[in-house]
Amino acid sequence: MIYLDNAATTFPKPDCVYRAVSECLRCFGANPGRAGHRLSAKAAERVYETREEIAAFFGGSPERTAFTLNCTHAINFALKGVLQKGDHVIISSLEHNAVLRPLEAMKEAGVITFDVARVVPQNEKATLENVRALLRPETRLLFVTHVSNVFGTVLPVEQLASFARSRGLLFGLDAAQSAGVFDISMEKLPVDLLCLPGHKGLFGPMGTGALLLSDRVSPRPLIEGGTGSFSLQHRQPDVLPDALESGTLNLPGICGLGAGLSFVRRVGTKAILQHETQLMRLLREDLSVIPGVERFGEAPETLLSFRIAGQPAEQTGSLLDRMGVAVRAGYHCAALAHTSFETTDTGTVRVSPSLFNTKNQIKNLSFSVNQIAMGKVL
Ligand code: PMP
Repeated sequence: MIYLDNAATTFPKPDCVYRAVSECLRCFGANPGRAGHRLSAKAAERVYETREEIAAFFGGSPERTAFTLNCTHAINFALKGVLQKGDHVIISSLEHNAVLRPLEAMKEAGVITFDVARVVPQNEKATLENVRALLRPETRLLFVTHVSNVFGTVLPVEQLASFARSRGLLFGLDAAQSAGVFDISMEKLPVDLLCLPGHKGLFGPMGTGALLLSDRVSPRPLIEGGTGSFSLQHRQPDVLPDALESGTLNLPGICGLGAGLSFVRRVGTKAILQHETQLMRLLREDLSVIPGVERFGEAPETLLSFRIAGQPAEQTGSLLDRMGVAVRAGYHCAALAHTSFETTDTGTVRVSPSLFNTKNQIKNLSFSVNQIAMGKVL
């Protein structure tokens, strides 16, 4: 099977990830920091090391880096933990439902209001202008995705972050499709809430993610409970990251994430981005000569959406599955993005490579799409 659904989760993982998860479960699978014994101390040490590595990689501080279960969890902490009654939020027209739905729920509960700024692909000025036009005195947060998970559009995050800072807004970034592939440093980019999945570009296992905070923001916890610290205190501690990490952490996942991150550091985000871009360029060229294939997005670098005329995307996806290619087809948990690109009727077929895919695999995919488009596979 050729796996090209890495935007959902990367597969396979580097060998070092499998080894780290297995070593943790076999050798020191104790509850981190919950007891005085050596195994618990070793587990806690691994958690701390990984926290430091993530913080260093993204230019944040370890004390302000909290582990989460995935990117959705990090985004919920960021939005629900920070926003207060009467706040107004601006998001982009390419947001994932992980951003849209918590905001919609808060809006329905009468807590906040929000507006959607249209992203104009490859036109930073126009995109920024659309954001500026929505600004209100009560606007508190600008929250955007870095890269669209449906169309691969890269948002002008530097300009948006500087704009937010200049207007006194908090800036939140959904780095679900960029962490581990694009360079992101909180030292250079004024981001206050950086939301990451551990299981995509950082090559950790599923069930991992992180929320990195600037020192301008300390979200309220959404889940209270044992933190392994201040144990006689009745109230949830305020100290970060403990305040956001109640309950037993996903230790095997965190160990795997640490290994995935060191793999990314060894290879380098530049090389990873270059590899993915090369594959997507090849696919774009191949698809451009197949009659009836419509491609979306302006030269996306890391993933590509297309559809075949007269065929629902899901059907194309299942035919590709039968031919040995795994892609995601249909709707991609991003209602706003599908509306923006007018694909709410058919959905799209999304191809998302990782470092482990090859040119041959892309050729194989293009060949299969050609066969389907010519009606040779039913
Ligand atoms: N935001 C974007 C842009 C995504 O692509 C995804 C995953 N499809 C998410 C958020 C949610 O990530 P997770 O699956 O880690 O919760």
